[in-house]
Amino acid sequence: MNSSIELLRNRLTNAVEKIGRPIQIMEVCGTHTVALFRHGIRSLLPEGIRLLSGPGCPVCVTDQGTIDTLLELAQRSDTLITTYGDMIRVPGSRTSLEKLHRPNVRIVLSTDDALDAARKNPDKTVVFAAVGFETTAPATAVVLQQALAEGIRNFTILCAHKLVIPAMKALLEGRNDKIDAFLCPGHVSVIIGSDAYRPIAETYHRPCVVAGFEPMQILEGIARICEQIRSGRACVESVYQAAVRPAGNEIALKLLEEFFEPWDGPWRGLGRIPGGTLRLKKQYEQFDAVKRLDITPLDSPEPAGCMCGRVLCGLVEPPSCPLFGKICSPNHPIGPCMVSTEGACSAWYKYRGR
Ligand code: SF4
Repeated sequence: MNSSIELLRNRLTNAVEKIGRPIQIMEVCGTHTVALFRHGIRSLLPEGIRLLSGPGCPVCVTDQGTIDTLLELAQRSDTLITTYGDMIRVPGSRTSLEKLHRPNVRIVLSTDDALDAARKNPDKTVVFAAVGFETTAPATAVVLQQALAEGIRNFTILCAHKLVIPAMKALLEGRNDKIDAFLCPGHVSVIIGSDAYRPIAETYHRPCVVAGFEPMQILEGIARICEQIRSGRACVESVYQAAVRPAGNEIALKLLEEFFEPWDGPWRGLGRIPGGTLRLKKQYEQFDAVKRLDITPLDSPEPAGCMCGRVLCGLVEPPSCPLFGKICSPNHPIGPCMVSTEGACSAWYKYRGR
C-alpha cells in the first residue's frame, strides 16, 4: 500500500473509531459506484463505514412507464426512436426496444446524432429518449436550440431528465433517512455547482462532499465526510475543485432554465418526487413527443420480484435480490440496475461475482 493511501486509511480509521458507531455513506452517482469497485476502494475502508449506492444511474431511475411509452412509440410507422445504447436493453412490461427488432429504433451517441436523424428522415417524427441528470440535460437543450435555429419541425423529445437534489431530499424525507452523508457526484456537480448541496447540509444536517473519480479523490472525499461526522459538522466540501465551481456552469444552467421546468414526475423505485423531473416549458411544447404524437404516457408497474427500487434507495445491496445472479444477469437483465454499466446490480455482478 503506498504511503498516501496508508495516510488516508489512518485518517479514516481514526475518524471511525471516534465516531463510535457504524455510518452509512451514499455515493449518489453510478460512476462512483463503478469506480469504488474497480479501484478496490471498498476493501480499503475500515469496518464501520458502509457504502450505499444511490439513485444516480440515468437508465436505472427512468421509470417503467417511460420505457413502455417508448415501446409503444416504436410500434408506430410514423416515428423514429433515437436513444442512447443502454436504454434499448431495459426490459419494459412485455419486451425491450432491442428485442422488438424494429428498424425505426436507432442508437445514437449524442443528441447531435438524434437531430441529424431528424434532418435525414423528414417523413418521420423523430423521438429522442431524453434521459439523465443535469449532466446530459444541457446537451438536450442545445439540440432544441439548434432545431429551432434550423426550423427542424420533425424533432421531438420524450423528456425524462432528472434532478439530483430533489432525489436526495426525497431519500432523507422518508425513502431512506438512515443515510448519514453523501459522496456527491462529480459530473452533475460541474453543472449545478457545489453550493447546490447546501440545503442538504444545512436543512438535513448531512455532510456532502463532491469528489471526482480518481481513487485518491474518492478516498479523500470519504475521509472528509468521516471527519465532518466525527466533529459533529455537516457542510458542503469539494475535493474536485479543478472542475466544480460553487455556482456551477452558469451557461448550462441558463439553457436548462430556458427550455425546461421541474415537475413531480415518476422515478423508478422512488415514486413521484416533488420537482424531481424536467419537462419542456409550454412555449417549447412543439418538441414534446407526448403532445406532438398525442400519446398518454404509461404508468407501468416495475417487474415482479425486481428490487431495483430498494437498491436505488440504498435500502438493500443487490445480492439481497432473490433474482440476482440467478435469473437476472447482465446477459439477461430483469431490471435496469443490471442493464446499465453504471447500475449497482451490474457493478456488483461484475466485480463481486454472483
Ligand atoms: Fe432488479 Fe436484477 Fe437487480 Fe434484482 S438483481 S434488483 S431483478 S436488476
